[in-house]
Amino acid sequence: MWHGIEGHDDVAERFRRALARGRLASSFLFAGPAGVGKRTFALKLAQAMLCRSKPEEALDPCGTCPSCAQAAAGTHADLDVIVKPEGKSFIPLELFIGDADHRRREGLCHNMSLKPSMGGRKIAVIDDADYLNAEGANALLKTLEEPPPRSVLILIGTTAAKQLPTIRSRCQLVRFRPLPTDVVARLLVSKSLVTDTDRARRLAQYSEGSIQRALELADPELWTFRNSLCERLSDSAIDGVRLARAVAAFVDEAGKEASARRARLQQVVAFAAEFHRRLLRAQCGAASSEDPELENHVNRALRNGQHSPRSVAARLDRCLDAAAQIDRNANQATLIECWVDDLAGIRD
Ligand SMILES: [Zn+2]
Repeated sequence: MWHGIEGHDDVAERFRRALARGRLASSFLFAGPAGVGKRTFALKLAQAMLCRSKPEEALDPCGTCPSCAQAAAGTHADLDVIVKPEGKSFIPLELFIGDADHRRREGLCHNMSLKPSMGGRKIAVIDDADYLNAEGANALLKTLEEPPPRSVLILIGTTAAKQLPTIRSRCQLVRFRPLPTDVVARLLVSKSLVTDTDRARRLAQYSEGSIQRALELADPELWTFRNSLCERLSDSAIDGVRLARAVAAFVDEAGKEASARRARLQQVVAFAAEFHRRLLRAQCGAASSEDPELENHVNRALRNGQHSPRSVAARLDRCLDAAAQIDRNANQATLIECWVDDLAGIRD
C-alpha cells in the first residue's frame, strides 16, 4: 500500500518508474469511478514530487519538511488545485485565466507559467475535469501544448470518453480501478464513516468499489425500499402496475434535481439486478451470500416457484439493459414503465 492509499499500487509504481527514468509526461488524465481515491492519490503524488528532503523518484514524501507541510495544508505556492464550485454546471473560466480585471495575470494557467518558487516543480490538479467546458478547455490548450518546464498537470475525471477530444488527445491516460470490496469495508470503518463492521460490509458489497457510492448507500430509505422491491419481485407473479407506481414515487422522493433522481433510479435497478443475480445463483446451488435480508427474499422466490432459471436470467438481462439506458439519460417515466412492464411480462 503506497502511503496509506489502498488499491492503486500499480499506478504508484508506474509514476515511480517514470520519475526514475526522468521520463515523466507533463499532462495526465486520471480516470476512474468517483470515490476510489484519485484525488487523494494526485495530492500525495504532488507532495512526493515537491518534497524537499526525499528525491522525487523515491515517491516517498517525508511529510514533515516545509514543502510537504504546505502541500498537505493546501498552501504550497507550486501546487494549484481547482474544483468545480458547488452549484456551477462547469468549471468557471476565471479559475484558469483570472477574472475580467486580472485576465492572464491570475488563475491556474498563469500560475503554471511561473517558475517554481521552491525550485522543484509546478503542479496543478483539476478535479471534476468531467465538467470542463469548451471555454475552459481552450484556456488550457496552451498549457497542454507547450507545458512549462518541470510542470505537471493532472486532470481528474470519471472516464476518458467524458473529456473533450482536445484534452483527451493531449493527456496521458492513467486508469484507476474500483476498490476491492474488503478494502471499501475496511476504509469505511478506519475513516470512521461507518461504525458497525457488518453494516460496512453490506454497504461495501453494493458499492461497486467506490467509497462515495458506499456512503450514498448509507441512506436507510434505500434499504427500506429494497425490502419492498424484493418482496414484489419474489411474488409468484409480479404486479407490474403497482411496482411501476412504487418505483416512480420513490424516484420522485429524491427531489427535483436530475442527478439525484437518476442516481436513485440507478440504485433501484441495481437492487433488482442483484436480487435476480442472487436468485439465479441460488438456483444453481451456490452458497448463500452475507446478506440475510436478500437471502430471505430469494428463498421466498424459490418457494413460490414460477421463477425458472431461464426467466430469472431474462429478467436480470432486462435490468442490466435498464441500467445502461439510465446512463444514456433516457426519459425516466417511460423507462420505469417499460422496464417494469417487461419484468412482469417475462414468465415461464
Ligand atoms: Zn517532505
